[in-house]
Amino acid sequence: MFNVIILTAYPEMFPGSLKYSLIGKALNEKIFKIETINLHDFGIDNRKSIDDEPFGGGPGMILRPDVVEKALLSIAIKQNLNSAKIYLTPSGALLSQGKLGILSKLDEIIILCGRFEGVDQRAIDILGFEEISIGDYVLAGGEIAAQVLLEGCIRLIPGVLGHPESLLEESFSDNLLEYPHYTRPNVWEDSLGKKHDVPEVLTSGHHGNIKKWRLNKSVEKTKKIRPDLYIKKEQKQD
Ligand code: SAH
Repeated sequence: MFNVIILTAYPEMFPGSLKYSLIGKALNEKIFKIETINLHDFGIDNRKSIDDEPFGGGPGMILRPDVVEKALLSIAIKQNLNSAKIYLTPSGALLSQGKLGILSKLDEIIILCGRFEGVDQRAIDILGFEEISIGDYVLAGGEIAAQVLLEGCIRLIPGVLGHPESLLEESFSDNLLEYPHYTRPNVWEDSLGKKHDVPEVLTSGHHGNIKKWRLNKSVEKTKKIRPDLYIKKEQKQD
């Protein structure tokens, strides 16, 4: 079983979105398990504070390293476990599909969710957290970011997706975005009475042509929307 441990000031935010749909089914089937550790249980002094002002000045509060350490030490150590410790932060390495693939093969992930202005850097460095960002934007806390990372990771665990072959062709495999999809009705009449049909090749039954059309669409879309990805693809082929 894939074991997830979350260190958070808001444990009630879990499993959150992870209890729905295919990921929720995997949770029920015990393909993975989520345990939360409440940082407030390890707060300091009679106010049970978990944060303090930043040295050097500036706005906001910083999560204390001693609180993070105590929370981490409360986790029972299991031997011979392939485990990762991750701190989610906008100043971490950008999360990628490749990284999700690597994480999905582990036995355990421990995730530290920041709040306020972030976490004391000593906790990250000394306790050995890998810093990962889910994108170049700033959220208010790490809890949603953790759910993003976990959803992306858990769907890659064998047995979670109904159609595992869908993993082979999706966006980012081979540095291409996925081609567009169409379904019924064949001709869709919108509310203004305008008719829109699906690309003819898709209903032709000619698998070779469909494959070619899809690849062309993928390339076209990637060049237009993500030229950076397309450059990576070309470099890989050289
Ligand atoms: N002052 C920080 C932002 C803190 S946001 C900075 O400028 O880098 C508060 C918390 O939200 C962070 O500690 C982190 O855990 C989480 N968070 C915000 N944006 C995130 C992102 N893009 N990826 C991962 N975690 C994020």
